[in-house]
Amino acid sequence: MALGEFDLIARHFTRPVRRSPLGVGDDCALIAPAAGMQLAVSSDMLVEGRHFLSTVAPERLGHKALAVNLSDLAACGARPLAYTLALSLPRAEDAWLAALASGLHALADRHDIELVGGDTTAGPLNLCITVFGEVPRGDALLRSGARAGDDLWISHPATPDEPGWLGEARLMLEIFRGTPGVRTEGLDLDRLRLAMECPQPRVALGLALRGVARSAIDVSDGLLGDLGHVLRRSGGLGARIEAAALPRSAAIARQTEALQLECLLAGGDDYELLFSADPADRDTVSALAARAGCGVTRIGTLGEVGAPVEVIGADGRPLATAWASFDHFLSR
Ligand code: ADP
Ligand code: MG
Repeated sequence: MALGEFDLIARHFTRPVRRSPLGVGDDCALIAPAAGMQLAVSSDMLVEGRHFLSTVAPERLGHKALAVNLSDLAACGARPLAYTLALSLPRAEDAWLAALASGLHALADRHDIELVGGDTTAGPLNLCITVFGEVPRGDALLRSGARAGDDLWISHPATPDEPGWLGEARLMLEIFRGTPGVRTEGLDLDRLRLAMECPQPRVALGLALRGVARSAIDVSDGLLGDLGHVLRRSGGLGARIEAAALPRSAAIARQTEALQLECLLAGGDDYELLFSADPADRDTVSALAARAGCGVTRIGTLGEVGAPVEVIGADGRPLATAWASFDHFLSR
């Protein structure tokens, strides 16, 4: 069934608002952060062929478009409030839109966040979401707060059975690309595909880490590249990562060591929190993560200003660190 612009907004993207004073239908939405809170705002765009394959199920596309945005709020320790959706679509197909909307609404409901507005236009398939969250004034987790001597931590699922471990999204991408040398025998490809298409934003962990983590970032472009952003924003600190400490799922551990490190350190699309904390807070961090329903692993230490960024191999020597972060204009 073909739908007009306003029909499709009314049918798929208009739901009664519960916590925002005004949702879809007027020129602006209204959002009411609580007293003493700062608004945390972030946008992420997903472009067909760049960020997702045309074969992705629309429910999963809806989930992922919102998940990657919630991951940014998580990295700042912000509580999600509302989001807007700017959508460019080649065709207005009712069933496809219903599925996209169900993926969005399901994740939104899980985080008690509502769609309050957006824009809809015909064009190449492209979804741009802006999320709005709130954080007590001065409490946001920032990239700039890391200090020499901090422990470096990465989040991951609570149990080995859960999908979505560090590097798995990249491993699935290599399988889709047919990259030679990827060991696929015995792998659960449906599970790996979930890692790529249905990331779980670590919102509860981000909230729990307020006042404990000194710096945080969500890993979207590869662990080492994203770590580089933290180190630069924190005055040019160094870092030492123990390769053996990196959390490895069974699917990752089955690959050659070189591919494992590529996926773990330069994978991208992980949406885990990479954060630093005072070594005196180790027990606190572990307890907070357990309460937030995920796992965390200590993978290294931050060094002094000007110290190198090193990944230490099993023999205690630094590995060559040629892993680049994903860059839309420089990477393939
Ligand atoms: P305007 O002309 O003022 O930009 P539009 O006619 O584009 O408004 O949109 C009408 C209403 O529908 C607005 O409240 C807008 O926020 C909302 N809207 C448009 N597209 C979407 C969408 N994809 N998801 C949610 N709300 C949308
Ligand atoms: Mg208007």
